[in-house]
Amino acid sequence: MAYRAPVADIAFALRHAAGFAQAREDGIYDLDDETLDAVLEESGRFATDVIAPLNRVGDTHGTPFRDGTVTTPPGWKEAYRDWAAAGWNGLAAPADWGGQGLPHAVNAACIEMWNSASMAFGIGPVLTMAAINALARHGSDELKQTYLPKLVSGEWMGTMQLTEPQAGSDVGALRARAERAPDGTYRITGSKIFITYGEHDLTDNIIHFVLARLPDAPPGTRGISLFLVPKFLPDPSGAPGKRNDVRAHSVEHKLGIHASPTCTMVYGDNGGATGFLIGEENRGMACMFTMMNEARLAVALQGVAIAETATQQAIDYARDRKQGRATAAPAAQSAPIIDHPDVRRMLTTMRGLTRAARAICYATAVAIDRSHAANDEAARKAAHERASLLTPVAKAFATDIGSEVASLGVQVHGGMGYIEETGAAQHFRDARIAQIYEGTNGIQAIDLVTRKLPMSGGAAVGGYLDELRETVDNVKAANDPAFGATGARLGEAVEELARATAWLLQKLDHEPDAALAGATPYLRLFGLAAGGCMLADEALAALRLADGVHAPARVALARFFAENVAIAASGLAATVTEGAGAIPPAAAFG
Ligand SMILES: Cc1cc2nc3c(=O)[nH]c(=O)nc-3n(C[C@H](O)[C@H](O)[C@H](O)COP(=O)(O)OP(=O)(O)OC[C@H]3O[C@@H](n4cnc5c(N)ncnc54)[C@H](O)[C@@H]3O)c2cc1C
Repeated sequence: MAYRAPVADIAFALRHAAGFAQAREDGIYDLDDETLDAVLEESGRFATDVIAPLNRVGDTHGTPFRDGTVTTPPGWKEAYRDWAAAGWNGLAAPADWGGQGLPHAVNAACIEMWNSASMAFGIGPVLTMAAINALARHGSDELKQTYLPKLVSGEWMGTMQLTEPQAGSDVGALRARAERAPDGTYRITGSKIFITYGEHDLTDNIIHFVLARLPDAPPGTRGISLFLVPKFLPDPSGAPGKRNDVRAHSVEHKLGIHASPTCTMVYGDNGGATGFLIGEENRGMACMFTMMNEARLAVALQGVAIAETATQQAIDYARDRKQGRATAAPAAQSAPIIDHPDVRRMLTTMRGLTRAARAICYATAVAIDRSHAANDEAARKAAHERASLLTPVAKAFATDIGSEVASLGVQVHGGMGYIEETGAAQHFRDARIAQIYEGTNGIQAIDLVTRKLPMSGGAAVGGYLDELRETVDNVKAANDPAFGATGARLGEAVEELARATAWLLQKLDHEPDAALAGATPYLRLFGLAAGGCMLADEALAALRLADGVHAPARVALARFFAENVAIAASGLAATVTEGAGAIPPAAAFG
């Protein structure tokens, strides 16, 4: 079965787990329920009816590369054109530049749906959206006027170019060069690898956002500048004009997202591509961070997206496929595999992890909206810190579970999961990259521990822990037997998280290696405790709304997660605080 956008679940998570409803009460949003539901419905319809049917053809066709050009799979150009014409590209873009100025949280929900329908389709626009953000925030008026309207409308797409062979996680090692030209522009030379949608035929111009180094730049990340480099330099009427000195040299063959062209880019065959500085010289990383933070959340949503579609497909398959006998059934009667407790354990784990990750991602988006729209400086700062704290958790937790859930999806299908025609294998292959690009998940964990925990002397994470404790108290106060041990298990998970947090904050200064070694299990612990509490928030909201249809299922899912998944918290906390010493030195590997 193809993907069906779970609009009602998405809307519920947004309102009740991620804090959208509360944020609206606080005046952050000026968006009524009807409009919110209509946007989500329409986005879900487009994802389900237009994009999802292209997912398989994208996987099998890939993006052939010939004579420097990339051909996207059949149907993709038309789908992209219709998608852009419907205004989806500019959903959260500033109204001044032709966007609709809707909240990031609403855009996040839409990004999830498009990526569920096809991750290879969804990743392209996400980079354009990130580019719009960086240009709107840091670009000169002239650059904004020339490029923003076309990027916002989706007439042109953007790329994000950091990576070089020697500069992956270590962006500061990049060598692409930018020379000042007498006319105030720059000449860009060098090469970039692994550039998503670096070349394609979806739009008639591509706007590259490229990091490069000036000849007199200081070493490392303090000597990097950001340049806008169009594939075609706009002519006086604004239409694509002279071809710039940049080309795609090749397209990678890769494990998944086959329909997303991953290009090696070459700059300066003929003396250097014309580039336009964004922001100030040597301050490119600050601009790039504007782009990367947006892209990180979008990649996090890809994890949720692939987990959702894999879960839907596995549930459908488990209802149909008959094998073995259910314990209560007559001897000769073979049962649908969904009747077997082990299969239901897999399916419930898939659903719980997906919804927990979704809630974390949406909460991050709501925090971003608050950081822009809260009405006093202190509230904006607190929201900015919340978004900064949650972004690495969203990125790494959601993409880790994306792969795990897709893997469980293969398992539910048995042998057929390993055979391409079911599509379960494609989800598994597609999901894997999200753990790597936009900063590997290891780098996210390090960011969380070394930069985010110490924010405001630990007060940012401390405040978040207090909110999680509130949820635990609310579950206990509900005193509903259907919650089973949810309150107790979540309480333990939150206290283990608090204990590991305190330990890391204490180690950071004096034993950084111990803190770094515990970063990945710590991030997982964070995701389980936060995700578990958010599922409980959803369940409590459903009970409050006396939603007789959904409340029992939401309570049951929160309980399953607390008792079967978040229960790993104590082991993870012990790994953080006691496990580092057992990691051997490099020499021990022979
Ligand atoms: C399909 C695809 C699309 C991509 N799209 C883009 C794009 O559009 N634009 C772009 O600029 N790049 C893009 N990339 C590149 C991607 O962002 C990098 O691959 C990623 O940042 C990791 O860099 P790397 O591959 O050099 O791995 P490395 O940095 O070599 O990392 C290898 C391993 O070492 C670990 N590691 C590295 N440094 C540290 C450290 N200091 N501490 C602890 N562990 C560390 C990493 O976590 C990882 O597990 C893409 C890559 C792929 C495969």
